[in-house]
Amino acid sequence: MTAPCRMILDVDTGIDDALAIVYALRRPGIALEAVTTIFGNVDVATATRNTLQILELAGRGEVPVAPGAAHALVRPFARGAAHIHGVNGLGEVELPAPRARPRDEHAADLIIRMARAHPGAITLCPVGPLTNAALALARAPEIAGLLREIVLMGGTLFHPGIPGIASPMADANFWNDAEAARIVLRSGAKLTLVGMDVTMKALLTPAMTRTIAAHGPAAATLMRIADFYVHAYQAQYPGIAGCGLHDPLAVAVAEDPSLVTAEAMQVDVELAGELTRGQLVADRRRTGKVQPNAAVCLDLDVPRFTERFVAAMRVSPAR
Ligand code: CA
Repeated sequence: MTAPCRMILDVDTGIDDALAIVYALRRPGIALEAVTTIFGNVDVATATRNTLQILELAGRGEVPVAPGAAHALVRPFARGAAHIHGVNGLGEVELPAPRARPRDEHAADLIIRMARAHPGAITLCPVGPLTNAALALARAPEIAGLLREIVLMGGTLFHPGIPGIASPMADANFWNDAEAARIVLRSGAKLTLVGMDVTMKALLTPAMTRTIAAHGPAAATLMRIADFYVHAYQAQYPGIAGCGLHDPLAVAVAEDPSLVTAEAMQVDVELAGELTRGQLVADRRRTGKVQPNAAVCLDLDVPRFTERFVAAMRVSPAR
């Protein structure tokens, strides 16, 4: 057996973030060493509270949680995802107040500290805007070479981007902090991009939520939260079978890249375009000057991921 993937998961919890946290906790191939939080789907204080609540729902309240950035590097925070994640970020399901407290350490400092303490061992998995990762890489550029890998949820090359923004081909995370995405993409770290080209193939359907909810009270609570997300997707994308499992898929790929087909590409993110701000741009020209800096996921083994996801969501009741 290979050693588990030692992970820092960076979240803007968020419904699919909540599912990603549970996935990371439940997979034998992942050691979830810390969770860092960020603005995005909700403000950072709400993301932090939601993260603590989900860890406690899963019976793992001891996992350290460090709050991070409250807004993008150069733009203010604008709340815009209540129709997808609920006003509280968890589909309006009210969980018990968390017993654990967040750490008195900024997310970026935690990332730097752990990367330095465990060279080559830590996988950073950002599934929100990339601000915490960018702050860490800006303060301590050497961690690009100390992290084992950065596996992030972001970008799209072929699948349409999220509705409601000026750029038709941007995902929420790159859109919410394009400057941070640029810092990460240009950092020199080993990068895997799990974007909408694959995450919109990983759907959570009502049949799956019913199967999972039957497992017990904690799983049923988690699926009540997920149902809000499924309904939001069905309203936004008429005819779709379920909601996109964006963040859980990024965590899954960090553990097991054999779930996806990826291509090494030279990629960057557009900052200035009137129609393209936040868009992932790939230079696939075959010239000597083009140097791949990321593995970009293009296809997914849907049945294998689906089976693994359903099994991982059968979370035991919290005590
Ligand atoms: Ca997220």
